[in-house]
Amino acid sequence: MADEVVLYTLGGTISIAGTVGDGSGVGLVARLGGADLASDVPGLAETGVPLKVEDIERVPSADLTFAQVLDLVQRASAAVRAGAGGIVVTQGTDTLEESAYLADLVWPHPEPLIFTGAMRNPTLAGPDGPANLLAAVLAAAEPKARGLGVLVAFNDELHAARWVRKAHATSTATFASPDAGPIGRLEEERVRILTVPPRRTPLPIPSAEQLDRVRVGLHTAVLDEQGDELDGIRERCQGLIVAGLGAGHVTRRLVPALTDLAARMPVVLTSRAGAGPVLRHTYSAPGSEIDLQNRGLINAGLLHPYKARVLLRLLLAAGATGEEIARAFAEHS
Ligand code: ASP
Repeated sequence: MADEVVLYTLGGTISIAGTVGDGSGVGLVARLGGADLASDVPGLAETGVPLKVEDIERVPSADLTFAQVLDLVQRASAAVRAGAGGIVVTQGTDTLEESAYLADLVWPHPEPLIFTGAMRNPTLAGPDGPANLLAAVLAAAEPKARGLGVLVAFNDELHAARWVRKAHATSTATFASPDAGPIGRLEEERVRILTVPPRRTPLPIPSAEQLDRVRVGLHTAVLDEQGDELDGIRERCQGLIVAGLGAGHVTRRLVPALTDLAARMPVVLTSRAGAGPVLRHTYSAPGSEIDLQNRGLINAGLLHPYKARVLLRLLLAAGATGEEIARAFAEHS
């Protein structure tokens, strides 16, 4: 018999059970727990995977916090130490790429930790939650998925947390890994692994209080900035992510502010393009990647802006030095 898989539920579209009127209109609310979700999945009982359910939250994923996700990872860790063979987490898809990556950065076990959710809620024709949950349980129980870190199971694909992004606001094929492709697929209820993503040393888990003290800003470069768009960051934040144009560029008008900020806090350069790297030694005009690196900005390579923000906040909360932060980005980029 397969090892037990533990299912933790956090809410989101997969757990919608109906509508509620609040005076301003009628909206969908999350009500279903893990037992309800599992009972609606054709073929799940036939897998023979024993499932233990723990309902943690019933919230839209926009309301989740780093502390809640890290608390869940610690519960999951305890479950694995007690003998669970794998973990499944259901949550809303809106922030799933961030929480899965946060979990991946700290997950120390070979046992699979699989995130999933749904785009079409159970009140609609053709909800995708049951198929996604079945795929996630199969992946969590799959020996070949051991040692791959945190994965996202969606639309019969498996994605590495490190590469996956939500790429469509409504499609059931929303999760994509533009830089790497899916690392696996579900075929006739079997898991096929296509790519083995590299694993990094797990990072320490900071406390909720340490996380609370850290603010990381995110600035997206756009056409025709004046240069004062970063005013106030110095007072509010301990770190900044710049989602640069193309391969990591900003207007020359932002350069003085970025130079000043990079002397005071870690400023990380990413690309807003959605796929592909920040370059290192191609463009040298003021505001291009060579110039910004010379001014102390940290190159995030292939790491997308939202994931870079997760990594930087985790590092700052754990008290990492500037040098340790630069080393971590070099390793994770
Ligand atoms: N608003 C939902 C959430 O992220 C969307 C979803 O679950 O797909 O909680």
